[in-house]
Amino acid sequence: MVTVSRTTVAVVGGGPAGVVLGLLLARAGIAVRVVEKHDDFNRDFRGDTVHASTIRLLDELGLGDRFAALPQSRLDDFSLPMPDGSRLLLGDFSRLRPPYDHVAMVPQWDLLDLLVTAARQEPSFDISMGLAATGTIVENGVVTGVHLRPYRGDGETEELRADVVIACDGRDSVLRTAAGLRPRSFPVPFDTWWFRLPREPGDATTALVPAFSGTDVLLSFPRPDYHQVAYFAPKGSDAALRAEGLGAFRARVARLRPDFAGRVDTIASMDDVHVLDVRMDRLPRWWRSGLLCIGDAAHAMSPAGGVGINLAVQDAVATASVLAPALQRGLRGAALDRTLARVQRRRTPPAVAIQTAQAVLHRVVFERAFAGGLQSGPPKLPVLLARWVPPVRGLYARGIAFGPLPEHAPAWARR
Ligand SMILES: Cc1cc2nc3c(=O)[nH]c(=O)nc-3n(C[C@H](O)[C@H](O)[C@H](O)COP(=O)(O)OP(=O)(O)OC[C@H]3O[C@@H](n4cnc5c(N)ncnc54)[C@H](O)[C@@H]3O)c2cc1C
Repeated sequence: MVTVSRTTVAVVGGGPAGVVLGLLLARAGIAVRVVEKHDDFNRDFRGDTVHASTIRLLDELGLGDRFAALPQSRLDDFSLPMPDGSRLLLGDFSRLRPPYDHVAMVPQWDLLDLLVTAARQEPSFDISMGLAATGTIVENGVVTGVHLRPYRGDGETEELRADVVIACDGRDSVLRTAAGLRPRSFPVPFDTWWFRLPREPGDATTALVPAFSGTDVLLSFPRPDYHQVAYFAPKGSDAALRAEGLGAFRARVARLRPDFAGRVDTIASMDDVHVLDVRMDRLPRWWRSGLLCIGDAAHAMSPAGGVGINLAVQDAVATASVLAPALQRGLRGAALDRTLARVQRRRTPPAVAIQTAQAVLHRVVFERAFAGGLQSGPPKLPVLLARWVPPVRGLYARGIAFGPLPEHAPAWARR
């Protein structure tokens, strides 16, 4: 039995891109249905850095107070450890104009819940949890909807028809594949292993400082009640790391961060250490007739700089800004497709700029670290600039906080 339903915009994927797009389109009065395969947002770690560009957007949307009330911690700067044990302040967010002078660390599920709660206040918004898109409906070469089925268990399948489908289904996008869009992959030298360690009174919480030891790299993000820790090693080392065993892994962490040595025993097994196969890719073409990919579905980002959520949010704002007026004007067919192409033209430059910067970071930090080259200190030029030209610290911070070409909420979405 197949149920057939209809909406104006079908948004597949309830990550940052999908829920922001759903909220904005609903505020324009456009019928929008977001479809998310999981039953809730409360799943494993998937990034929680909310940068100034997103905090400013939330203020513009009238959600700043609710966001500020979420449990969160803040990063005020990022530094590099020097061989003599000192720290070099590399990026200083306090040089930016308040209140957009920090990066907030907020569990992603809290942010998504906040956005969906706001969207539910709009009559034209609808969200279905626990439903997965399995493919596109194509008629005369145009995507006219998606096939849906329960993500877990059996149940009725559904054909959701829409004027336009937006694929926000992340880096393993099913819809992108179904639409025949193939991303171009870029080499990434590392994978990341995520785990938690308890927070203790007196831990530094507002500074981000990577730790280097031998060829190992580690970064810890303070959450309100624990540290979310990322260990970096050359791509493909997961099997070797697990073969070494838990004791060896704990020892690596303790070597990198002697202040964590007393807590590494809380990593109960290697099952607590989750590997992320880091990928960086980008679609040469983000759309085909009736369908557009945004967020990670269009460009999977490296975790370097922690910008993935924010870029996905910015894509969603750009999409709503061009799509809502087009739909309100009644554009369909080739005219509507041209708006999809406009989104790609508008968002490709920031995606390219950030991925290029990430590729440089991969080379000068990670590849050098894995070759043992960071023992003698970080690369000279950025360090000299940060040390002797203090405004450069503000420039580095601005680049991370806002990125290139940040988007603003359209007037009709503001509250
Ligand atoms: C472990 C990890 C750590 C990260 N750390 C950071 C960080 O600190 N800061 C940062 O900015 N970025 C980080 N990122 C990247 C960031 O999470 C992504 O760039 C960002 O979430 C992309 O948003 P998105 O909405 O495009 O896709 P996603 O967040 O991937 O959302 C896609 C959504 O679509 C759903 N979905 C998938 N397939 C289907 C389907 N067929 N049908 C229905 N729903 C579907 C998924 O369940 C998911 O909810 C991290 C990523 C990972 C994996």
